[in-house]
Amino acid sequence: MITASTDIQYLKGVGEKRAVVLKNKGIDTVGALLRFYPRSYLDWTDISPISTAPFFTDVCVKAKVLSKTEERKRSGITLYSIVVEDSSAQMTVVLWGQKFLANSIREGREYLFYGKITGGFLFKQMSSPKIVPAVENGIEPIYPASKNMSSKQIERLIKTAVAQVRLPETIPEEIRERNRLCTINYAIENIHFPISREAFLKAQKRLVFEELFILRTGLSLLKSKKGKKAGSVIKQGYLAEFKALLPFNMTSAQERVIKECMRDMFSGTPMSRLVQGDVGSGKTVIAAALMYSAAKNGFQSCLMAPTEILANQHYKTLLKITENTGIRCALMTGSVKIKEKNTIKAALKKGEIDVVVGTHALITKDVEFNKLGLVVTDEQHRFGVGQRGSLALKGENPHKLVMSATPIPGTLGLILYGDLDVSIVDEYPAGRQKIDTYLVDTSYRERIYRYIKKFLDDGRQGYIVCPLVEENDEVDITSATEYYVNLKNNQFKNYSVGLLHGKMSAKEKDEVMRQFSDGEIQLLIATTVIEVGIDVPNAVIMVIENAERFGLSQLHQLRGRIGRGEYKSDCILITDNTAEDTLKRLEIIKKNTDGFKIADEDLRLRGPGNFLGSRQHGLPPMKIADLFADKEVLELAGKEAENLLETDPDLRKNEALKTEILDLYKKLNKE
Ligand code: ADP
Ligand code: MG
Repeated sequence: MITASTDIQYLKGVGEKRAVVLKNKGIDTVGALLRFYPRSYLDWTDISPISTAPFFTDVCVKAKVLSKTEERKRSGITLYSIVVEDSSAQMTVVLWGQKFLANSIREGREYLFYGKITGGFLFKQMSSPKIVPAVENGIEPIYPASKNMSSKQIERLIKTAVAQVRLPETIPEEIRERNRLCTINYAIENIHFPISREAFLKAQKRLVFEELFILRTGLSLLKSKKGKKAGSVIKQGYLAEFKALLPFNMTSAQERVIKECMRDMFSGTPMSRLVQGDVGSGKTVIAAALMYSAAKNGFQSCLMAPTEILANQHYKTLLKITENTGIRCALMTGSVKIKEKNTIKAALKKGEIDVVVGTHALITKDVEFNKLGLVVTDEQHRFGVGQRGSLALKGENPHKLVMSATPIPGTLGLILYGDLDVSIVDEYPAGRQKIDTYLVDTSYRERIYRYIKKFLDDGRQGYIVCPLVEENDEVDITSATEYYVNLKNNQFKNYSVGLLHGKMSAKEKDEVMRQFSDGEIQLLIATTVIEVGIDVPNAVIMVIENAERFGLSQLHQLRGRIGRGEYKSDCILITDNTAEDTLKRLEIIKKNTDGFKIADEDLRLRGPGNFLGSRQHGLPPMKIADLFADKEVLELAGKEAENLLETDPDLRKNEALKTEILDLYKKLNKE
């Protein structure tokens, strides 16, 4: 018996080889295949008269063949011209060398032609349309094809699956009725093989709602965990004591946010808070203050960073602050030796370590705590729901703090972080120097190198961010390496130059970062691995090659690596691209230093679609819904999610929905 959870390999017509292709598309099971929706449709039912059909858009014409001529071109290709006619007008269909198709067409018979009409009022032409005999009509699904599998092949497999497998219902009947939604299986059948336009629209409505309903229920589920079990109660803040450990005074924004967090931690219910603050606003200290407080109250905390470099940096910062306080810190990253890892794990379990810093993956996967009081997640570019979800499902209920520099505009932020309270760090530490940003073309390169040297000679440091050659790690790394070798041996041969890229081993990266932090490396050539969180206040100049290849938010993050200390900093963007919209984009970065403003402008320029398309923001991948366009449905789905959780808080009566939500968390964790 085949069911939704059957491995895709065992569906008739698949087998081992095709299973691999399908799994690469993310289709592991028969259920996943059924939820692999068409990218678009060929609508053979929506017929346009030739005379009034719009130009340059895909239309379907039903017409009779009047004549057929062929002409052999010099190039050896045969051009077939077929004059066809419907009751409104004539047009010429041209086929280039499609001999088999051309020969199958008979004069006097009627066909459906699907394609774009070109030409003018008097002479209309359709070039290489899809052609089927007029009797065969319906709506044909088009799937994202690949080299190894065509749309037609996918369609055939889905036909088999639809005939054999029913999916369990994910939306309770009451909610379906209230929102006039069809059943899951009607929707699946008609999203793939619509029996009519109406049926298709019904199916689409239901699946959009469903997708957003799963998302919102998943989010609400996290939220409802909040306020339920009492978290670890922090009795005293120890803030004055902590402040005395710092080499600087906290900004009032930092202090305010710490107090907001502490109020949560005193309250007896677990904190779920997002701290949003632009790059350089000093979020790390906030986390440190809270972890200090937790430790003093006898609780353990962990700080999760997205990269090893950053975990290392945080660890060092914490060590410095907590020196001589008796607070025990440990570092857990991939490059820590197994033996040491085991020692740390054992110590954490016994409660002999107060604070552990590490990468997200390691800590969520591997570690057991004795008395976990606080979880801090740093620099969440990505949608943090997956991680928050995993922790909640582990049954632990510590205080949670998410720190993010990535502003997510408006409503969207509310949705993504809907389960979190928000604190904003809206002030930079005193004495920050402004960053000047310049935009130049490559003819300035030598001059820029001389300019960098002046800074280095003054004892400062700098970064050059290498061009992304293409979205391909290997190629990018080769080019970064070449760039580095060239500078090291030529223009900067009298300076110490370092290289940092993503494919270096953690240990190598670590060593380079240490050398850079300690000033042993003066100029660091890097790929975007430095984008996140790196803090070397003595670095004051950054050059970004091929600036046009980076997103605005990414440029803002990169630029955030300088201007972190007492020295004035300069950022130089290099591009030879003169396209108007590129320059417009780069002007935004040049003129603005406020990350929120930049994100807004980015959104305005690129439009919501592209904004969502860029994975930087870490929004969950949507199959059929559109988080912007379907905003109303999103709200409706949210309300229904709340309703449902009131009567069925653990989704015990809605197993299929629960399965989908767990699946969503899992996907988000993998991203
Ligand atoms: P981000 O918010 O980008 O994570 P960091 O926490 O890395 O910022 O802080 C940036 C730099 O500012 C660090 O070098 C940190 O030591 C320093 N810093 C943080 N708070 C203050 C402060 N109140 N006064 C002076 N320097 C500060
Ligand atoms: Mg940071």
